[in-house]
Amino acid sequence: MGKIFIVCPECRQQLSFNEVPGYQNMVVECPKCHFKANVSVYQSGTQARGAQGADEMSTQLVMPPPTLADIGQIRVKSTGEVQFLKQGENVIGRRAKSGTADIKISTDMYMSRQHVRIDVVRKGSGYEHHLVEINSKNIVKLNGNPINRGDVLILKFGDTMTLGTTDIVLESNDDDATRIV
Ligand SMILES: [Zn+2]
Repeated sequence: MGKIFIVCPECRQQLSFNEVPGYQNMVVECPKCHFKANVSVYQSGTQARGAQGADEMSTQLVMPPPTLADIGQIRVKSTGEVQFLKQGENVIGRRAKSGTADIKISTDMYMSRQHVRIDVVRKGSGYEHHLVEINSKNIVKLNGNPINRGDVLILKFGDTMTLGTTDIVLESNDDDATRIV
């Protein structure tokens, strides 16, 4: 077991982590810019473009706790970035220095710093996902259709939300994330 070297597709930081079985399917978080995606996304970045700087930062593979298996995650379609949802309110918005969202994705200038909320609500043995309009400057589209001010809509896995020019998909955690030690 050796060290794996990858490059963050978002900030070009070179990263390394200790090899573990099945690491290709795990999620890694960039310690510098907090971009989170499958290792394979980082590896395609390594092949496509060169790294910036000679010094690498060591990073950790991250996985949702097993009990959160069906709580859901969102994926940014264009970059493959993955962010895990938590039970309760998840405000989603642009990655900015002054950003105050719970989940910050993309640097899309058409995305508000607080753009929309996904509420994860416990229902029986599973969870329900509610898309909540939070009066953001920029409107949200659900599966291509603009939602209305004040809307609360029930989401299902596979639904696509458009925030600014960025498409994100609600997914089950089981889709490609496997658990780490
Ligand atoms: Zn980064």
